[in-house]
Amino acid sequence: MDIINILPDSVANQIAAGEVVDRPAGAVKELLENAMDAGATQIDLVVKDAGRTLIQVIDNGCGMSDSDARLCFERHATSKIHQADDLFAIHTMGFRGEALASIAAIAQVELRTRQTDSELGTIVTIEGSHIVDQHPAACQPGTSLSVKNLFFNVPARRNFLKKDSVELSHIDEVFRRITLIHYDIGFTFSSNGRVLYDLKPGSMLQRIAGLYGAAYKEKMYAVDEVTDLVKIKGFVGKPECAKRSRGEQYIFVNGRYIKHPMLCAAVERAYTDLLPDHSYPAYFIGLQVDPSRIDINIHPTKTEVKFVDEHALFAILRSAVKRAIGQFSLATELSFDTPEEFNFAPAPKNYFPEQPKISYTPGYNPFKETRRAGSTAPKESLEKFDIQQDSLPELPELHEIPSNGTVAPVNCIQVQNRYIVTTLSSGLAIIDQQRAHERILFDRLSAASQRATPDSQTLLFPVNCTFSVADAELLGELLPDLRQYGFGIEPMNQTTMVVTATPADVAESDLQGLLEQMLADYKGSTMQKFSNRNQTLCVSLARQMAVRHGKTLCQEEMQQLLADLFACPMADISPTGKRIITIVKPEELLK
Ligand code: ADP
Ligand code: MG
Repeated sequence: MDIINILPDSVANQIAAGEVVDRPAGAVKELLENAMDAGATQIDLVVKDAGRTLIQVIDNGCGMSDSDARLCFERHATSKIHQADDLFAIHTMGFRGEALASIAAIAQVELRTRQTDSELGTIVTIEGSHIVDQHPAACQPGTSLSVKNLFFNVPARRNFLKKDSVELSHIDEVFRRITLIHYDIGFTFSSNGRVLYDLKPGSMLQRIAGLYGAAYKEKMYAVDEVTDLVKIKGFVGKPECAKRSRGEQYIFVNGRYIKHPMLCAAVERAYTDLLPDHSYPAYFIGLQVDPSRIDINIHPTKTEVKFVDEHALFAILRSAVKRAIGQFSLATELSFDTPEEFNFAPAPKNYFPEQPKISYTPGYNPFKETRRAGSTAPKESLEKFDIQQDSLPELPELHEIPSNGTVAPVNCIQVQNRYIVTTLSSGLAIIDQQRAHERILFDRLSAASQRATPDSQTLLFPVNCTFSVADAELLGELLPDLRQYGFGIEPMNQTTMVVTATPADVAESDLQGLLEQMLADYKGSTMQKFSNRNQTLCVSLARQMAVRHGKTLCQEEMQQLLADLFACPMADISPTGKRIITIVKPEELLK
């Protein structure tokens, strides 16, 4: 019995669509690229409900003939390449002839198009790969393509979509990746009737300013380098403007946004020794190379590219960026608070150290109810502690550090400005100060939702923070959570938020950076299928607010930190699953 059959086009297209258009932003990218390939000088993007109900792209490009307007929805229908050899000399954004066929398979599409020299244009309506209607009509020269009710026939995809604010921020990212490098084209972007961007054609720096705010003009150095192999033109952020998230890093090749870890590394290498730990420069760099020396064909969404001359490019890019930074700044003038190394002053002459006294009680059981009498720690947290006992390698004993918040008379020393060393009954405890603090803050933040009024400190001077429109929108949605943690944040306008209060634990001077990193972490987590919003936000904030390695702590601070740590039910493991405490047992010490 034969059981094989050929899938109908509509099904095949729908399957293929999964590759090209996984979310509204995917469709936006394809439509914007088509408009650019058509030679448009002005392109308008309109979305409703983050692209769920409508994505429309209007261009003033070459338009299509009546029959092309039908043919363009066929699979492998493209005007951009004709033969296999053309693949090695691609000058357009598209070339696969898949996008429109895919989009038409999973949405209701209306195409209006007119070639400049025709009197009349044509309107094609297509739905789930079936042409519903085509008729001639008067329309503007160029093309307008409306995608309505994306995924109307693919409920699984539709249900998988995230909140509007998240989808909109993906569209925003696609819009940036395209508009940043095509600064000679005018673009507008409106969402639910609101104009988010109106970008005039101009220079790359003007485009950066149009997308990120005028302040960016002062934050950038120009990179300009011409060699036989590559032309490099773009802007890199001044080292002092580096941020704590990697957000604004863009590399383009022949007008196309690409992801290329090696080239990113080349740029970052140029900043060696110029940036504090965990901070990243912004960069917007366009490369022009001979199309025959790159392969953009290895990935269907086409952000990965292979270069023939990878190593040479690496070196050229690094030195170009180095020069751009070096020309205008002197590395030696900048000072950064790098973690101190071992820094013990030599002991004075004739000084004999006293033998330290360490006391411990090997048979001590911290979980005995009687020892906790008078403690304010809730009983329930102790029980949780107990349950963890098996899974944790070593548990510190608690009797030396009462959990009622008072400071115990245990001496701590700080080693390498990174570890707190103290004695516990079970031995010598080495505690990672940053991870310990992350644990404490995480527990406090995540418990905040159960308290009626969060611990909050009002700022003497409210701080204005500015974001991209999409980020501001996303932040707006997270405000209820943030208020619970103790933040006071009010939207001022489309892009500015005023911070009036912070959680009591925040000793943070860079609130803008804190919020940006939190948004970046949140966006990152929404890519994962199972993400818990509260947990993501608490982890992100706790990690940023925690004392860093390299910070000197005084005796009281260390003791308070330990007291707080041991009041946590999972004192041994940081919120990201890293070990906080290592115990060196008395037997090991004896050895
Ligand atoms: P590709 O861009 O890979 O060629 P698409 O499915 O995106 O494939 O588009 C198919 C064809 O439709 C294009 O090759 C082009 O000829 C035509 N086309 C699509 N969008 C436009 C537009 N905005 N203006 C003019 N022609 C267009
Ligand atoms: Mg295309």
